[in-house]
Amino acid sequence: MSNNLDLEIVPLAAFSDNYIWLLRRGSHAAVVDPGDAAPVLAYLEQHHLELCAILVTHHHGDHTGGIEEILAHALAHSPPQAQSPSRLPFQFPVYGPASEAIDEVNRPLADGDLFDLAELNTSFEVLAVPGHTRGHIAYYGRMPAGCGVLFCGDTLFACGCGRIFEGTPQQMWHSLARISALPAETRLYCAHEYTQANIRFALAVEPDNAALAARAAEVARLRALNLPTVPSTLACELATNPFLRWEAPAVIAAAGRASGIGAQQPEAVFAAIREWKNDF
Ligand code: ZN
Ligand code: FE
Repeated sequence: MSNNLDLEIVPLAAFSDNYIWLLRRGSHAAVVDPGDAAPVLAYLEQHHLELCAILVTHHHGDHTGGIEEILAHALAHSPPQAQSPSRLPFQFPVYGPASEAIDEVNRPLADGDLFDLAELNTSFEVLAVPGHTRGHIAYYGRMPAGCGVLFCGDTLFACGCGRIFEGTPQQMWHSLARISALPAETRLYCAHEYTQANIRFALAVEPDNAALAARAAEVARLRALNLPTVPSTLACELATNPFLRWEAPAVIAAAGRASGIGAQQPEAVFAAIREWKNDF
């Protein structure tokens, strides 16, 4: 396979700390969670790429706000016979959670669904990961060569996890447990650059975690250069992310100190750590 037909995954910075992930192969591209159209349209134009799909993880505006403008742009640049607004939804796939109200989604997805992005030579499996929102989904991609990738939206962050806005701590824990069970080499593409703040909290939970200390140094180096700290790998999160470490004795002890109850059950340990982070 020649190099320009390899899949590349590019972070497009949006707002103050969002990442819109752009997948590109040859002359085609797809984007995940385009909260803002401007950086997407600018990148497509600069690199002469044709957008072939939009993927959405959940309904929040910082993940969906750019879709309408991107579709309008795609319509204006499509062949004349396709330039009927009523046909556009069928021309241009917008994937998203079936159980959330997102107007532009025309390929509603539920847990276990599989779909291909033929232009990118990539297939995805859908994981329901409720908690941040009730219908939040993640996309597990099987790359033509190499390891799996997960677009996890606001469910899992580097060294952190999303706030529980609509679901329960039990749901969020279950969602994170499912992600934990993916192959350790899976690359995790989360939707925000929150890593440095997350690491400050993680160090409060586990001050003696050597892997975390090493990660803190590396993240500080990257941020000083204004470079992204994502994607990370599941292996790295399992070693350093307190929201996946409900079985680590130091995390169990910290959860007990934070909540005042001797929590041992994984869900309870997770819930106590999440509660502590809310006020950190
Ligand atoms: Zn969100
Ligand atoms: Fe977000």
